[in-house]
Amino acid sequence: MEVLYTNTRDASETVRASQAILNGLAKKSGLYVPTVIPKLDIPMEELASMTYQETAYAVMSRFLTDFTEEELRTCIERAYDSKFDTPKIAPLVSADGAYYLELFHGATIAFKDMALSILPHLLITSARKNNVEHDIVILTATSGDTGKAALAGFADVKGTKIIVFYPKNGVSPIQEKQMVTQKGGNTLVVGIHGNFDQAQTGVKQMFSDEALRAELDAAGYQFSSANSINIGRLVPQIVYYVYAYAQMYASGGIAPGERINIVVPTGNFGNILAAFYAKNMGLPIEKLICASNENKVLYDFFSSGLYDKNREFILTSSPSMDILISSNLERLIYRIAGDDAEKNVYLMNRLAETGKYMITSDMKDKLRTFYGGFADEAETAAEIRRLYRHTGYVVDTHTAVASAVYQKYLAETNDTAKTVIASTASPFKFTRSVMNAIDKKYDAMSDFELVDELSGLANVKVPQAIEEIRHAAVLHDTECDADDMRDTVKKFLGIYSERQK
Ligand SMILES: *Cc1c(COP(=O)(O)O)cnc(C)c1O
Repeated sequence: MEVLYTNTRDASETVRASQAILNGLAKKSGLYVPTVIPKLDIPMEELASMTYQETAYAVMSRFLTDFTEEELRTCIERAYDSKFDTPKIAPLVSADGAYYLELFHGATIAFKDMALSILPHLLITSARKNNVEHDIVILTATSGDTGKAALAGFADVKGTKIIVFYPKNGVSPIQEKQMVTQKGGNTLVVGIHGNFDQAQTGVKQMFSDEALRAELDAAGYQFSSANSINIGRLVPQIVYYVYAYAQMYASGGIAPGERINIVVPTGNFGNILAAFYAKNMGLPIEKLICASNENKVLYDFFSSGLYDKNREFILTSSPSMDILISSNLERLIYRIAGDDAEKNVYLMNRLAETGKYMITSDMKDKLRTFYGGFADEAETAAEIRRLYRHTGYVVDTHTAVASAVYQKYLAETNDTAKTVIASTASPFKFTRSVMNAIDKKYDAMSDFELVDELSGLANVKVPQAIEEIRHAAVLHDTECDADDMRDTVKKFLGIYSERQK
């Protein structure tokens, strides 16, 4: 069965998977969504004996139906190889009564690697399939982790250039160092004087700027996106939920058909949406617990049905979740509006014009799978300390938000369902916040002293990604105002426009 992709903002646009991947964003700033969610028609016994790569093929082949078997298998092989430091790719660790699904064993030690190690291959394959001759320019806004993972995925990939915008004062020192030391002649890293939402808005504006697209076209380029709005990122993320369930089943942790909960530390709503798609495929999932930090727009939304971004933007110790406009939520809104582009457009226009929208009670009824929770900075730090003291297991700040929200959920509901917590970053990526949470005395140490201290304390080897940047030279120092992102892109591509005369 062919799965097509339609536009959340224009019902007349329908494309094949490879075209959706190439385009990134649909017309009118809409997002591509599958017209049907394919069923996971493989017995759990069979899934339970599959490797990560085999699971990836089983899941992705059902969504990316215009890829040949050979094309897709090649993409998977190139993505999930020794760049990951464990053959399991996404191991499940059981600690304190929950299962932590470690999604940080890739090149940049955050969960973005799960999708961004395969996206470049999906894109290049899509370009070939669609006879695209232009070079592809990847434009990315990052709250910290996407940027490095995208850079690592695309660096020196022929036929591509990649430009990453990050909030100059909004990422952790290690995140910034990871990005500005990126090698590859086709890479550009830019710190913007603004926050993530401004970076993301700037990127979206460039995508829908027809004049800019025309200038690129004339110069032999075309844009695509590595942001989590690209369906080529969403689909690979469904894989690890299926894999996690199959692993639990294989180890006897759950009975056939037993329903589990999944807790996801959420920012742009991509990771948890992938879990929602997994559930729609038929994976036995009961609750999807959406965990926010102090930027708790989503918590408020799930509680009241009002999405309201008009509030102070708070910088927290879980910067990859410091987001007030969760782009992928639009895909859920479209869904609960009954796959109705018009209704969705109405709400998205409200969001653009007033910064908020209210869903109908019919729509809210369809959100019962979701439970929204949040953890503030003190609760997040306390959870890191508690888990460490109880079990010796050290989690990063984002995972700690999820873990803290799960504790609150347990206290509130006494739900005994087995629960998977998406563990989205290595604690080594947020060493200072993690170590300070365990003991204030660590604050006096330098970043790399802390890395070594954490390694001893958690009994985990320092990841390669951290070793690499210890002595690496800074190769990028471009900065710009949020208003100048367009010109920065053109300069990098060597385009000088007529309109500037
Ligand atoms: C990106 C990111 C998140 C948020 O994921 P979304 O898919 O944007 O909701 C959470 N934790 C970490 C470490 C991340 O890098």
